[in-house]
Amino acid sequence: PVVTRIAPSPTGFMHIGTARTALFNWLYARGRGGKFLLRIEDTDRARSTPEATEAILRGMKWLGLDWDGEAVSQFARVERHAEVAHDLLTRGAAYKCFSTQEEIAAFRDAARAEGTSTLFRSPWRDADPATYPDAPYVIRIKAPREGETVIEDAVQGRVTWKNSDLDDMILLRSDGTPTYMLAVVVDDVDMGVNCVIRGDDHLANAARQSLIYTAMGWPLPTYAHIPLILGPDGKKLSKRHGATGVEEYQKMGYPAAGMRNYLTRLGWSHGDDEFFTDAQALDWFDLDGINKAAARFDFKKLENLCGQHVAAAEDSDLLAELELYLEAISADPLTDAQRDGMSRAMCCLKERAKTFGELVDKAHFVLGQRPFEPDEKAAKSLDAVSRGILSELTPHLRNASWSRNGLEEAIAAFAESRELKLGKIAQPLRAALAGRTATPSVFDMMLVIGRDETLGRIEDATG
Ligand code: GLU
Repeated sequence: PVVTRIAPSPTGFMHIGTARTALFNWLYARGRGGKFLLRIEDTDRARSTPEATEAILRGMKWLGLDWDGEAVSQFARVERHAEVAHDLLTRGAAYKCFSTQEEIAAFRDAARAEGTSTLFRSPWRDADPATYPDAPYVIRIKAPREGETVIEDAVQGRVTWKNSDLDDMILLRSDGTPTYMLAVVVDDVDMGVNCVIRGDDHLANAARQSLIYTAMGWPLPTYAHIPLILGPDGKKLSKRHGATGVEEYQKMGYPAAGMRNYLTRLGWSHGDDEFFTDAQALDWFDLDGINKAAARFDFKKLENLCGQHVAAAEDSDLLAELELYLEAISADPLTDAQRDGMSRAMCCLKERAKTFGELVDKAHFVLGQRPFEPDEKAAKSLDAVSRGILSELTPHLRNASWSRNGLEEAIAAFAESRELKLGKIAQPLRAALAGRTATPSVFDMMLVIGRDETLGRIEDATG
């Protein structure tokens, strides 16, 4: 079975690109009955923080990217990494290098002066262990100097490096800590990872990492190096373009399903399909559909898809996710009455809402309480004439049948008898029912809150 993983470094917030890479790995594994693992690459002790790890776990949970087993800490495995470095020594595939920083710098200076390659060629590569000094050393891989290293990448195709361009990279530092190159290979092998989907900034690393696999006699994983995400202007996605952190998107109120749909489409395609469900994505996702060209982040498209997902969601699911959203933005949780109002209002609220923020905003008429303090615009539309109209409307509403048709007929008949345009009634009615002028339709609101509450709010506004 397929085993994939996401291996983020906990050195800041969770980038949207990391989320997309995680999503691709999740889709590929879950769609094939495989496993999806999480490894926190926290070997860089100076830059790794527990807060950053928490942010990653929160981001994964928000996006619904569940992983199998416990999250693995790379740092906890440093002894195992060192063991493999020593194993490579024993196999003659690596060597101890006693060259100092100064010697390496001097080598580079000389190479630059002579115009020769600055790739460090250690004098210790072929030294007799009997001549080893009692001094600090690093362990380097004995990289082949002749021939080529080839990576068959599922996205990039066949990529070739001349071995004369590869150096003897360090596996274990002089303090005994592993380098990223070693740790990532050992962990992937020990965790059983057989498919690595990651950013194409790691493509050259794949060539170097393949040397470790080969030297240990381990089979290479399937590689899929995916292009980075660009901003709308074709430059690398950055703060200038908008939010780059996963948590910011959660706080902006985008529904997780819309975010998954959008991120799946960001660099992967399936014919002309734009809107799709998780089940479809799991069914369709494959490495062939990953685009070779970098994808540009399109905020409009994200909003559009989110709107479609809000509209398509079950009311109860939306309500549950809305409560998580309120928690994420540290807003007050819903009271029982508000939850009840929201759930009755959901069917009209979700039309044309793209974010939970918009849902909450439209829900003011069920989240607020009598008396509804009118905002500035609402106060204007509740002038003396309009208040008079509402007072006269009241008996008609009292007698109307409380259905969409009944209310529409009652208000239309009243408008006709008074020779009023519908807007002359609807606008002050909105203001009375919600204290605002931008609201769901007056019929939706009246149906949700019921006759008594409707008449009560009109009385508050006209009394
Ligand atoms: N920790 C690496 C990163 O965050 C991931 C390495 C990998 O996926 O192999 O870029």
